[in-house]
Amino acid sequence: MRKIEIKEFFGKVLAEIFVDKYNCIACDAELRDTSKYGLCEQCKSKLTFIQSRICKKCGRYQINEADYCLTCQAHKREFDFARSCIVYDDVAKEIVRGIKFGGKKYFAKYIANFLVEKYQSAFDGVKIDVVIPVPITKKKKISRGYNQSWEIAKKFAKAVGLTADDSIVVKIKDNKEQARLSGAEREENTVGAFEVKDAEKVQNKVILIVDDVMTTGSTASEIARILKRAKAKEVYLLTFASTRYKVEGERIEQEQKQDTAQVENLTQEEKDQVNVQDASQQEIQNH
Ligand SMILES: [Zn+2]
Ligand SMILES: [Zn+2]
Repeated sequence: MRKIEIKEFFGKVLAEIFVDKYNCIACDAELRDTSKYGLCEQCKSKLTFIQSRICKKCGRYQINEADYCLTCQAHKREFDFARSCIVYDDVAKEIVRGIKFGGKKYFAKYIANFLVEKYQSAFDGVKIDVVIPVPITKKKKISRGYNQSWEIAKKFAKAVGLTADDSIVVKIKDNKEQARLSGAEREENTVGAFEVKDAEKVQNKVILIVDDVMTTGSTASEIARILKRAKAKEVYLLTFASTRYKVEGERIEQEQKQDTAQVENLTQEEKDQVNVQDASQQEIQNH
């Protein structure tokens, strides 16, 4: 390696090792000490941990005591159940944006710590055979540099002593633009986006899908569907955050609020994550 390359290489290594320890991953405030979640006390206090009032199927936090959220009442869910650690609001949004669009790969370690806790409390009695990420297309991986779901899945699996594998399911096409589609059409639109690559690793197995955020849950449901078609025994989903509100429906107005430069290259689910946040902000303001 030439001198300059060596310098660059070590620069990157050092960045991975040191950059993350003493700054809050949501607001960047300097931390007195390292923190399990990578957050300052203030940001941590703003999180809503999902413990009660959950939808029994998708694990979303609800504003009432109903057993199932409106989305789960209206749609067939192919996963056995899903659980999330926190509500997808301001702080969670900053963290997800950082790992997804800001190149902050090291956030995975902190996100995984949230997942470990949720896994230990919510998956008692479920014997997982393999952990898989929500895959992204090759094209997306090249532009982003990594798949954040896979980064989280690896760290999580290692921490709880499970096997992680990103070769079982692949994404073969990006969802086409679907902002103006109805909920049912959206659901349809994820069909054919994913493929089981290694059916042998699926047969009779209990599979846990790991992802950063659940919005509609239709992506995870579609992956669960193809896994079950390939004879998976059970399929579960564990995410860092999930949206509080029913997200299907009127979103077109919200689109105008989007940071257009940032969302230009996003998939629909990623756009939904941006939109939903804006929608829930508005809902709060309207009350
Ligand atoms: Zn903070
Ligand atoms: Zn639900």
